[in-house]
Amino acid sequence: MSNLFFIQTLGCAKNTADSEGIEAILERAGFESAASPEDADVIIVNTCGFLQASRQESLEAMRALGQNKHDGQLLIAAGCLVSRYGQDVKHQVPSVDGVIDAGRWLAMPRFIEYLRAHEQTANGKADGETWFEEAYINLPRSQLPARSVTDYMPRHAHGPSAFLKIADGCDRPCAFCIIPAIKGGHRSKPMDDVIAEARDLVAQGVQEIVLVAQDTTAYGWDWGQRDVLATLMERMCNEVQGLNWLRLMYAYPGHVTPRLVRVMAAYPQIVHYLDIPLQHGDGRVLHRMKRPNPVATKRMLDDLRTAMPDLAIRTTFIVGFPGETEQEFEGLLDFIEEEQFDRVGIFEFSREDGTPAGAMEHQVSRQVKARRRHDAMLTQQAISLAKNRAFVGSELEVLIEGVGTIEGNAAMRDPALECGNCVSIGRSYRDAPEVDGIVIVQNELAIGKLVKVRVTSASEYDLIADPI
Ligand code: SF4
Repeated sequence: MSNLFFIQTLGCAKNTADSEGIEAILERAGFESAASPEDADVIIVNTCGFLQASRQESLEAMRALGQNKHDGQLLIAAGCLVSRYGQDVKHQVPSVDGVIDAGRWLAMPRFIEYLRAHEQTANGKADGETWFEEAYINLPRSQLPARSVTDYMPRHAHGPSAFLKIADGCDRPCAFCIIPAIKGGHRSKPMDDVIAEARDLVAQGVQEIVLVAQDTTAYGWDWGQRDVLATLMERMCNEVQGLNWLRLMYAYPGHVTPRLVRVMAAYPQIVHYLDIPLQHGDGRVLHRMKRPNPVATKRMLDDLRTAMPDLAIRTTFIVGFPGETEQEFEGLLDFIEEEQFDRVGIFEFSREDGTPAGAMEHQVSRQVKARRRHDAMLTQQAISLAKNRAFVGSELEVLIEGVGTIEGNAAMRDPALECGNCVSIGRSYRDAPEVDGIVIVQNELAIGKLVKVRVTSASEYDLIADPI
């Protein structure tokens, strides 16, 4: 029986970090990574269960893989959809052989062994939960498999940038969010383990480490301490030799402390970038969302920008929260205009069972949500274009992540690009992986290199530059 596996990752950066953990665990157990699902003996889908749309995407992905399954091939559902719906996932996708909870993927090799040993029986008994109970029934958490998701994780780098998950779960009461129900309360990864993982990654050529969690700014709070994230970032800058870029994502507005701001401004490795989901700009809506009020948020943004005038801020907003009036929506647009964010994601409110907002009255219609999202995106697009244009003529450092050749449509979109030219694709300090813009550099450069460029033109989201 060969042991080739393939992992399909859906959802957020934290799932990407988990999938890289699953990969490392399987490789340590003698499994090998397959290039495609067809070549694999075991296919694992690391699902997302956050919103209706992401759940649908996860189910469809598994159905498609299930349809092409060949004899003896296992299809395993892991991740947040399983944490939320358990065995129901198998009822929705009968071709799934086993389901394993988001917090238990560390036992993946044993679970595969179990599935192979226990052919699926009529009542679908071959699921992670049952197996886990059978194997670990009544064992206190401290005696569960040697590691937990917040312990040191051997990592396999996939390029010059890597997400590093420093905690799991969340203690915040946001009215629209199901994550605390899926992931449980906030648990931080021990600092020495984070440092060890970062060293592992840098030793494999990683230039940029992106810190992720549900709430990175609550790091260490479960140890009864405050401001520990600042200590962690300082230690990473001092103790992880060769780390060039350290990026902070998923900060919580009420938890950004003066010391964290000072540390971000003091260390050259820490890129002047902050991802901080704010969710709305109108105080009445934020109050109903159980989120921090905008007055304190504005003060925090001012402090950040005073300490780092070139700071790039990414945030996300929800439109169509129950009861959102036109006036409150206008309040959000005014906030976006006023604060001039660099990167903004706008989401339509998704009514989630099990959340306080899911049970609220005055749900906003689909049409109104779509129109408000469109209007908010347009407002931000103009801001993003103006901010990008302000970089034309200036120098930037870019992390090269790919090379390619300009095709017809790209050249048509931007006269600065010539069809057939070899270019490199990279990101500047203003761009987080997977969610922000790119910098197209007009030359073929080495992947993984940090290069100096001069910006020659700009579009709403991307920049074009020449290497210096
Ligand atoms: S802080 Fe983020 S993960 Fe936590 S409850 Fe709020 S929205 Fe959800």
